[in-house]
Amino acid sequence: MREGRSAGPALPLRRPATASFQGRRDVILRVNAAPRPEGVSPPLFDGLFGLFSRDIGIDLGTANTLVHVRGRGIVIAEPSVVAKDHRTGQILAIGAEAKRMVGRTPASIVAIRPLKDGVISDFDITEQMLNYFIRKVHERALLFPRPRVIVGIPSGVTEVEKRAVQDAAISAGARWARLVEEPMAAAIGAGLPVNEPTGSMIVDIGGGTTEVAVTSLGGIVISRSIRIGGDEMDSDIVQYARREFNLLMGERTAEDIKIAIGSAYPLDEEVSTYFRGRDLLTGLPRSIEVTSAQIREAIEPSIEAIVDAIKATIEETPPELIADVMDQGIYLAGGGALLRGLDTRVAEATQMAVHVAEDPLTCVVRGCGMIVEDLPKYERSLVMETYSPNSR
Ligand code: ADP
Ligand code: MG
Repeated sequence: MREGRSAGPALPLRRPATASFQGRRDVILRVNAAPRPEGVSPPLFDGLFGLFSRDIGIDLGTANTLVHVRGRGIVIAEPSVVAKDHRTGQILAIGAEAKRMVGRTPASIVAIRPLKDGVISDFDITEQMLNYFIRKVHERALLFPRPRVIVGIPSGVTEVEKRAVQDAAISAGARWARLVEEPMAAAIGAGLPVNEPTGSMIVDIGGGTTEVAVTSLGGIVISRSIRIGGDEMDSDIVQYARREFNLLMGERTAEDIKIAIGSAYPLDEEVSTYFRGRDLLTGLPRSIEVTSAQIREAIEPSIEAIVDAIKATIEETPPELIADVMDQGIYLAGGGALLRGLDTRVAEATQMAVHVAEDPLTCVVRGCGMIVEDLPKYERSLVMETYSPNSR
């Protein structure tokens, strides 16, 4: 594996939390370093260790991986993409650098998104990615005790994959690793009263999946996950360009257009931009002006699926909890929550108040960070431990 350098943050994070990361361009990674021998730390000493250790929360998202380090905030926000030479199997780049290669690779290089659909499609790659990100923040392994790690995972991953993620965190240098389902972490990060005997509804619209969950008393009471999120909107736009204008457009370009002028509800003032791509008839590049109303029409199928998933979850929620959700409102998190007018659209469809969580792209990782800082408080919210990595 090649040694990489950290690239700048890829997300338009609105808080200056990534500043510390930007200042760390010089960090040389030791991706190939052999895993440190596994020390067994008796629980008794965990508290003592905890005082010094830089505990880590990781959001292993379908589109973006974010890392929160106790006492430092969010230090990594990079796309969950790995570029690999498929002839040699060598990893060429991870994160932002790899994402820039998507759609631009020569035949021998593939840019892989190992969690694209909310399941781990390529475990080896996921493990290497996790390893890379943990080592990146945990380079001073000799000075600091090994960190405890909380990893947020899409709720669709299987038991085997969960265990594999946990193992990957341990082999990357974690002293202890536990998992939390992303909607739960998002609810915690959004500041919802998850531990109270009250129903809170969170909708996390990520790249590959949308997860809807109602929490109460520290657990998820009801949830639903669909494999439709921001990626599907991008592919809706690609298809629209082809269908309406015979224009061949890449998914990255489509994503840029979605972020620039996409919406889920009529805008006060409709705006426009340009579709750029290759004309399928002439084979030549062409650019066509499109309006926000057209983009809205293009992504409507995805929006409808998301709204339907929310409505279906509401229908299954016990009445007491629905009354609570009506009081509190529905919270939107994940990058998709930034789509203009989605809150209004959901409010209209459900007849409930809808709020976009503060800084929706970072809710899950902040939730993971909050968990790692107060484990006893959030113990019930973690994925049940099926085995103990330290007791092997
Ligand atoms: P995941 O948790 O699956 O990694 P994220 O929560 O990081 O996903 O969200 C990524 C998705 O959000 C992508 O599909 C991206 O295009 C979309 N996204 C990011 N910013 C915006 C925006 N301003 N408007 C609409 N969609 C956005
Ligand atoms: Mg997410």
